Amino acid sequence: MNKIRTRFAPSPTGFLHIGGVRTALYAWLLAKQNKGDFVIRIEDTDKDREVEGSIEHILKTFKMLGLDYDEGPDKPGPFGPYMQSERLPIYHEWALKLVSKGLAYGDPFSKEEVEGYRIDAKQKKLPFLYRNYRPNKLPAWDKSKPLRFKSNPQKYTWNDIVLGQIQSNENAIDDFILIKSDGYPTYNFAHIVDDYLMQISHVIRSQEFIASVPKFLNLYQALEIEPPILATVPAILGPDGRKKLSKRDNAKDILDYLKEGYLKEALINFMALLGWNDSTEQEIFNVDQLISKFKLSNVQKSPAKFDERRLVWMNGQYIRMTSTTELYALAKSYWPNDSKTFSQDYKMAVLDLIKERLKYLSEIPDLTSFFFVEPKIDPSLITDNKILSKIDNQFLIKLLELSHQRLSKTSFKLEEIKNTLNDLLLETAQKPVVLFSLIRIATTQSPASPSLFETIAILGKDKTLSRIETQIKALKNYE
Ligand code: GLU
Repeated sequence: MNKIRTRFAPSPTGFLHIGGVRTALYAWLLAKQNKGDFVIRIEDTDKDREVEGSIEHILKTFKMLGLDYDEGPDKPGPFGPYMQSERLPIYHEWALKLVSKGLAYGDPFSKEEVEGYRIDAKQKKLPFLYRNYRPNKLPAWDKSKPLRFKSNPQKYTWNDIVLGQIQSNENAIDDFILIKSDGYPTYNFAHIVDDYLMQISHVIRSQEFIASVPKFLNLYQALEIEPPILATVPAILGPDGRKKLSKRDNAKDILDYLKEGYLKEALINFMALLGWNDSTEQEIFNVDQLISKFKLSNVQKSPAKFDERRLVWMNGQYIRMTSTTELYALAKSYWPNDSKTFSQDYKMAVLDLIKERLKYLSEIPDLTSFFFVEPKIDPSLITDNKILSKIDNQFLIKLLELSHQRLSKTSFKLEEIKNTLNDLLLETAQKPVVLFSLIRIATTQSPASPSLFETIAILGKDKTLSRIETQIKALKNYE
């Protein structure tokens, strides 16, 4: 069998949406699994739609995700160049082959004529097809006009690895433009030439191209080239499961997710599952597992649903699977400014503690700021607390004074803190939701924090005691 070579062929018309990267990921997985090649080809033949910066953005996304490519615009290979705008002579050469075989002609149709033909077809209750109005004697191509393909209408049956057998009739075939009047090829033409010359074995792409496949098959035939294996991946729907995923669904650009501190392994795992599973309930697959388990034939036909909550959950799982040392390295740029003067050991201890609750790395400042700066007293933490707000202020003060007194006698080792506060619970006949919540508020000024004992153990004795004192003073002032 020939080498498996897959490609991702984005048009640089904007930033990469999650669906695009998912499609590319499937092509990448297939190549990796078969020790094949994965190629990035930039399809920049529509200069009007090009958005500046998108090529860099696309390539950066692949680099950041660790989806390496064997050939691409910045990675020369035997089949380059990998930017379609740099391959114009190649398309012209192939176009001329068709012209010389009498299979392409200079576009003779003016806008007005086409309008007239449309009306004519409508009156005849026929679909409008250029080929029905093609002149008998094919017009020559003078390059100021587009070049059109002379199609050969027929029925097709073809196999799509994901969708199975598909049939089409003659109406799907028409004379389409190969080269535009600006000299650039159309997608319909260029991708066929390139996939062939680049020896692409599998073309994996999204649903929107399925209706055009009969046209492509017709052109493959005219060019006398064997079509590659075709696979159509499912659409991705928004969270409501009805409409196609769009900007309004808050699906972010992959680089934005990475900036927010989603781990690349989690993003890859999440994207892989948008339309694929290994026929079990398993949800967590590391990249190596994906490489070995991925099968195009297991890609689902029906649309996938984008659910950001699943991504958040999955990222949390990955954070917990990552060692604290590794996570610390990944989290370097996420610490709040105030943490600068603190030691690595201290920050590692903080990270180890919040790891259980951390959903993405950009939450670190919010979850950890009280470890680095003195938190401001927030009276609402008590007044809005269902249980504490019903307790007499004097009693709250008393509880804090006792806590202060007992804790001040300890060496502040974790075990001692635990025993001391548990003893105090018994002694005062209070529930943890009262006593521990109160100490938590006093020491962190936040309604939730990781385990109280660990939190204050990391904060240390001095800070813990002085924050309790500050809270006592504040409560006295409420009197
Ligand atoms: N340039 C096309 C796009 O960005 C590529 C489609 C394909 O993969 O063939 O949609």
